Amino acid sequence: MKKISLLGATGSIGTQTLEVINSHPDKFSLEAISIGRNIELGLKQINEYKPRLVSVQFREDYDKLLNKIPDNVKLVYGEVGLEEVAANNDADILVNAVLGSVGLKPTLSAIKAGKTIAIANKETLVTAGHIVTAEANKYNVEVLPVDSEHSAIFQCLQGESIQEVEKLILTASGGSFRNLERSQLENVTVEDALNHPNWSMGAKITIDSATMMNKGLEVIEAHWLFNLPYEKIEVLLHQESIIHSMVEFIDGSVIAQLGTPDMKVPIQYALTYPNRIELKEKKRLKLWEVGKLHFSKPSFERYRCLSFAFEAGKSGGTMPTVLNAANEEAVSLFLNGAISFLGIEEAIERALNEHKIVKLPTLEQIDEIDKQTRDFVKKIMVK
Ligand code: NDP
Ligand code: MG
Repeated sequence: MKKISLLGATGSIGTQTLEVINSHPDKFSLEAISIGRNIELGLKQINEYKPRLVSVQFREDYDKLLNKIPDNVKLVYGEVGLEEVAANNDADILVNAVLGSVGLKPTLSAIKAGKTIAIANKETLVTAGHIVTAEANKYNVEVLPVDSEHSAIFQCLQGESIQEVEKLILTASGGSFRNLERSQLENVTVEDALNHPNWSMGAKITIDSATMMNKGLEVIEAHWLFNLPYEKIEVLLHQESIIHSMVEFIDGSVIAQLGTPDMKVPIQYALTYPNRIELKEKKRLKLWEVGKLHFSKPSFERYRCLSFAFEAGKSGGTMPTVLNAANEEAVSLFLNGAISFLGIEEAIERALNEHKIVKLPTLEQIDEIDKQTRDFVKKIMVK
């Protein structure tokens, strides 16, 4: 029986993680969850899954929920609450599916508490990859990928040696605007951007897919998870999202992981690794139905966020922190109707150009630069 704590239970990855847990009650039990502002769904989850510890984002929601939950459930809130759910309980494994760099500190607390980390929250590794990986090594803790591309690579690498890898090939669907030219992006709406062709995901990552910043963040995530230089990481456009990623070895052999697009596969693999168990009601891959798979090279001029991410990753230090914070703030402004779609790129480019890099930042410096970058983006972009 694996005991699980889950950050971001009310989100897209969070709800799918609960489905996986629920479908194998003999294998998994749920210890603790965190919810954000969706307390209506959170309350349903508390009653259905009966975690012993629950954290909500805001004090006012804590007050609202306190009398509605069973007596044996401990309720906490805020950033301290997130850390308690991550670290302060009997769970063996933390699934981090919260959104944004707020996921960093709870991850570090869980590592210190010796818990295995199943990481969906990519902003954590992007903003502070050197600290997370150093801490995981120090406490001898495994960081297992949930993101489908990294899970694919991780699966391709089983039984292989990282020294024999020539390159990692991350596949990308191209997002909502993959059939549009750059000149056609001027007036696209939030609604258009949220309409992803292959995956149903949270709003922020759906926008990140449309700008390709999602793939950029994944390139940096791959660098940290697999300890490979950026020169050995490539992106390939593949519109069907059937090949979830590939590894090319030094002898020219390429191993790929395939399947119908379904996040429950990588979520469950992270929970059962190194074993596999049945995934109930999984839509099976029938290649004769798919017929053809398509591939092309992404253009860095068309997808400028992808080139920002490679550059920030190679520069290292605090550059990825700035990249991530500027992107989080800009996407949030776009979703709220305050800036245009192309304004996201502009905000990130200006924040990166403005920044004076700090080579090996501490957690405090990362925190400070994250805040400064968000303020900078608001100041320059909102008239
Ligand atoms: P969602 O927006 O659907 O869910 C985010 C979760 O985090 C919700 O539970 C939300 O609470 C909670 N949350 C958001 N902000 C805060 C905050 N400041 N404090 C506390 N809780 C907060 O996101 P996704 O599930 O799509 O993505 C989660 C992470 O996983 C992201 O980092 C994303 O990049 C990554 N990921 C997602 C994939 C997907 O298929 N969706 C695939 C691969 C990676 P509430 O809703 O209650 O407000
Ligand atoms: Mg992904």
